[in-house]
Amino acid sequence: MYHFRVEVRTGNVYRGALASSRLLWHVEIVERERAGRRNMSLSERVAPLLSVGASLAWKAVPSVRLSGRSVGRFVFPPTTNHTFVPAAMLSRRHFLQTLGMAMAAAPAASSLFRRVPFAEDTSDGFTALRRGVGIFRKQGGTIGWLIRDGALVVVDTQSPKTAPDCWTGLRDRTEEALDFVINTHHHGDHTGGNGVFAEYTDRIIAHENVPSLMRAAAEDEANSVYPTETFETTVSEQVGDETITLRYHGPAHTGGDATIHFEKANVVHVGDLVFNRAYPFIDVQGGADSRNWISELETIHDQFDDDTIFIHGHANPEFGPTGGREDLLVMRDFLSALNEYVLQQRQAGASLKEMKQKTAFEGFEAFNFDWALSLSACIEAVYREQTG
Ligand SMILES: [Zn+2]
Repeated sequence: MYHFRVEVRTGNVYRGALASSRLLWHVEIVERERAGRRNMSLSERVAPLLSVGASLAWKAVPSVRLSGRSVGRFVFPPTTNHTFVPAAMLSRRHFLQTLGMAMAAAPAASSLFRRVPFAEDTSDGFTALRRGVGIFRKQGGTIGWLIRDGALVVVDTQSPKTAPDCWTGLRDRTEEALDFVINTHHHGDHTGGNGVFAEYTDRIIAHENVPSLMRAAAEDEANSVYPTETFETTVSEQVGDETITLRYHGPAHTGGDATIHFEKANVVHVGDLVFNRAYPFIDVQGGADSRNWISELETIHDQFDDDTIFIHGHANPEFGPTGGREDLLVMRDFLSALNEYVLQQRQAGASLKEMKQKTAFEGFEAFNFDWALSLSACIEAVYREQTG
């Protein structure tokens, strides 16, 4: 069994194993260059790693497992002459040279390695995760979906512009009737497409604070489509052979955030409780409470296990909108650092303007990327919270 670390020029990080009948290769792949990635198949994206060696050409590997999940047969593009060298066939010296070449190609890569629940995304924005649960990404908050025999459920609806594409994609995948829609919270980038789905179901479920928060925030109230059913602390729904449980843990990102647990799939949509390695929106006007948010993330972390896949409302593209429960603790630690910073600055007599000069927190530099929300907005929100 050999460990390889190889850079591939696209944008994500994959970790896994290439298996043949006789050899199992552990491979860590760092995608670097995002341009053009959308329409590339997994084979095309991973192919450059195969230029590492030069003595034995493999036409195909029986299976590829990434993060312990099989993603199916891996076939090298026939038009390119990729070769991969099983270390067993090389001298030790040559193997180390080959490995060294691979390592040299990815000098800063090790800090990026992490567990990635992997499934191939498609050019229409759909990614299957596990047991009929998946995500749709286009613009705004990540949409979650469930497709099973006798079940079709949608979590969040993005915008009137992108919701029709989501519906079209769902219809390509199933003919089941839409059971209901769930809103993780009231924000327009999660509820804006409610009207599109309301044509196919009478049921939109959300926490009981969502309708009033939506009304208060609505720019275009006449065209907003509100939840038709609400819950207080928790509610469960049986759909097909899946059980979906919604929970409310108190104010956090807003005053009405729900987590959506697909129990048998062990997948949880946490809405905007996680901005994965991205500066979050702390909606003080909309009932947010960043201190409670911190303890809530810990509660949710402890509620699930290491196999649980989490769907995040928003994400730094380098880290992606799905992950494991450790991502919740990164969000928690950022919110803690933020609260401590503002408190310390206030105690030291700094003005809000002075506090907002801060450009990054140590250990959270990854949050600085081309993104709509800023650290200074986070600082201001927590300042408003602390000073009432
Ligand atoms: Zn939000």
